[in-house]
Amino acid sequence: MHELALSAYLLESVEEHAREAGALSVVTINLVVGERSCVEDEALRFCFELLSPGTLAEGAQLVLWRVPMRFWCNTCAAAYTPDSESFRCPRCGTVGGVVDDGTDVLIESLEIET
Ligand SMILES: [Zn+2]
Repeated sequence: MHELALSAYLLESVEEHAREAGALSVVTINLVVGERSCVEDEALRFCFELLSPGTLAEGAQLVLWRVPMRFWCNTCAAAYTPDSESFRCPRCGTVGGVVDDGTDVLIESLEIET
């Protein structure tokens, strides 16, 4: 189960950040989840609740922000989100470069109690 390893890793990072900030507990964890990361919200929440008891993140709310794949068009000097059929720029039709391939899961921010 992909989400279990991911939760363990995220939880470790969250605790590290929280401890550095002198937190007593973590209230909210904002996660940025790429739409192509193959992470299921419910599975991630489930694993997180399984692993978090006894940690600073016990009872913390998990907020998932889905972010789409992003490309950059040099012709238009603008970022765009391609549709699923082509990776072309919606303005000029050029195939741009990948800025964010949408497969990452990152901790965007934490709300903590000190
Ligand atoms: Zn363009």
